[in-house]
Amino acid sequence: MPQAPARITALDTHDIRFPTSRELDGSDAMNPDPDYSAAYAVLRTDAEDGPRGHGFTFTIGRGNEVQVAALHALRPHVVGRTVDEVCADPGALSRDLVGDSQLRWLGPEKGVMHMAIGAVVNAVWDLAARRAGKPLWRLLAEADPDWLVGQIDFRYLSDALTPGEALDLLRRGREGAADRTARLIGHGYPAYTTSPGWLGYDDAKLTRLAAEAVAAGFRQIKLKVGADLDDDVRRCRVAREVVGPDVRIAVDANQRWDIDEAIRWTRALAPFDPYWIEEPTSPDDVLGHAAIRRAVAPVRVATGEHVQNRIVFKQLLQTGAVDIVQIDAARVGGVNENLAILLLAAKFGVPVCPHAGGVGLCELVQHLAMFDYVAVTGTTEDRVIEYVDHLHEHFTDPVTIRAGRYTAPTAPGFSAALRPESIARYTFPGGTFWAADPGTAEGHTA
Ligand SMILES: [Mg+2]
Repeated sequence: MPQAPARITALDTHDIRFPTSRELDGSDAMNPDPDYSAAYAVLRTDAEDGPRGHGFTFTIGRGNEVQVAALHALRPHVVGRTVDEVCADPGALSRDLVGDSQLRWLGPEKGVMHMAIGAVVNAVWDLAARRAGKPLWRLLAEADPDWLVGQIDFRYLSDALTPGEALDLLRRGREGAADRTARLIGHGYPAYTTSPGWLGYDDAKLTRLAAEAVAAGFRQIKLKVGADLDDDVRRCRVAREVVGPDVRIAVDANQRWDIDEAIRWTRALAPFDPYWIEEPTSPDDVLGHAAIRRAVAPVRVATGEHVQNRIVFKQLLQTGAVDIVQIDAARVGGVNENLAILLLAAKFGVPVCPHAGGVGLCELVQHLAMFDYVAVTGTTEDRVIEYVDHLHEHFTDPVTIRAGRYTAPTAPGFSAALRPESIARYTFPGGTFWAADPGTAEGHTA
């Protein structure tokens, strides 16, 4: 008797929170006390000994339960589907999730619901890559270009990027891909570190961590700015003295400013040669970014970690509003939408320097940047993946950094799985850490 095809039997969800606010790790001008968190999803199947698919959305504490509720709402679309069907065509599932005629009202294609879709879609890609026995970057880089184009939703994009243009980019990207795969495995992908620059760190800690970053091989660091101009001038001076003239310093305002203020503040920091100003203002203000970019050149303008979908990225590129596109693996609707954004950036010739850090964002986004190098743009010139050195120990396949570069993952999947003991400890509010924490009983997250 032929066996029944394996099906997805469950979409398990977990509210995971880490008490990062206690050390001011992750503190910036808009987010002074984040508890880095994940709304985490696991796709279980009835395939005997078959892998599971893992995905998540990153949040910074309160509201993670809302994100988990959004994952729940997607369950009927996923449970019962055959594993073969979803892995052969994650794009079809993605379109069904985005197109849900009632859930769509909560976006469309933005915010909590869209991020939940991203988590589920990414879990499917994790499952597909595990079944294929390949790390996701390699699965994407070796995929048929026609199939990859079929994974992209070109709705609202075709005035900037057509399926034919995307296919041309991907076909051209395949030339020399084998050599680049070898180079990637041998040398990794350049990283920069944000660890020295959190706003809550004093000058001594900034000095020590910046010196350590340079000694560890990083060629770029990043400083949070935007709370107090005098402090920022002093911190930029300290950092520049420590790293010298040749290491790049990016600065990140986390959406703190109005347009005029962004221009004034960035110009005030210009003597310390910042490489880019990141998120100077609202991530929705396309024309504002364009105005800032015109005014602060040669300082580059970067944004993307809070850009909600491919359509806003399209406008940022069409209006010449950014020098650097910062994709985030867990903000938009998953791998499929990020394929669209990578190809848009490639068409406009704008480098992609992914946003990472948080919980597991480094683990995820390295795959997308490495795919871009091997099989789209073919270059790492002026491209770096953000790196922050905390919370990696909670993942079964944590990122590896050597001499300031990400090592190419070799384990099958999307590097998205949390360790079971971390889930047991940091599930909110019932995990062993939170249950033992006096603040939890009083209803505080930290
Ligand atoms: Mg940022």
